[in-house]
Amino acid sequence: MKTWIPDERYFAYLTWKQVDALPRGSTLLVLPTAAIEQHGHHLPLATDTLINNLLLGKALSLLPEAMPIYALPPVCYGKSNEHSGFAGTLSVSALTFLAVVRDLGASIAAAGFRKLVLYNTHGGNTSLVDVLARDLRAEFGLRTFSLFGSPGAAFDGVSPQERAYGFHAGEIETAYLLHATPELVHTEEYTTNYIARVDQPELLKPEGSSANFAWLTKDIAPSGVLGDPTGATAQNGERWANDAAARIAELLVEMANFTPRHGA
Ligand SMILES: [Zn+2]
Repeated sequence: MKTWIPDERYFAYLTWKQVDALPRGSTLLVLPTAAIEQHGHHLPLATDTLINNLLLGKALSLLPEAMPIYALPPVCYGKSNEHSGFAGTLSVSALTFLAVVRDLGASIAAAGFRKLVLYNTHGGNTSLVDVLARDLRAEFGLRTFSLFGSPGAAFDGVSPQERAYGFHAGEIETAYLLHATPELVHTEEYTTNYIARVDQPELLKPEGSSANFAWLTKDIAPSGVLGDPTGATAQNGERWANDAAARIAELLVEMANFTPRHGA
């Protein structure tokens, strides 16, 4: 798959002797988690994985050279059963996802590394990443961090409706890919569906509130898009990606230097 990770920051390009020479206590490893799943008629299955790689790659290229921070190869397959019924969605169960990332955490801890970031760009994995961050800390003593999506990106110009309910293959994801891989965006195939409207507040929300309903894409979005891609531009995609990358770089430095106020 296409990658934006700088070669010198890609863990899998090192030999085992080079890994053995890394400062174990201070090296920060970043494990990307994403998905291979339907993204409407206009975006590729790898959208979440490509966005993860784009933002992380840009962020890593901003870091001071001396900081030992490396990207691991991504866990491309995620928990995507909200998109079941659409050809091309390749989903793993919650238990499989938990088991794979736990095993990777065990390997990382066994090699003597102490600091791990789970960088997730697929919403269906979010609650599992939260569970894993705590469990890897408790079980292996890893100093574990979770990082999601495009932290701090302002997404200026995006409508309140799209900002709230552009969940999937909408303006933001489409803009990112128009910037990163325009050859993979089928701009003549845009479709629009919304799971809820900001101007029609309902008691039950699709997510992120105190009372949510569980949703499946096929119930509400026949094309697979949850949002509206029509306003997307490559220029906005580049601007937002650079914004998000700058914030990710800042957070990675913070994570690398983090010491909790009490305890080890
Ligand atoms: Zn996506």
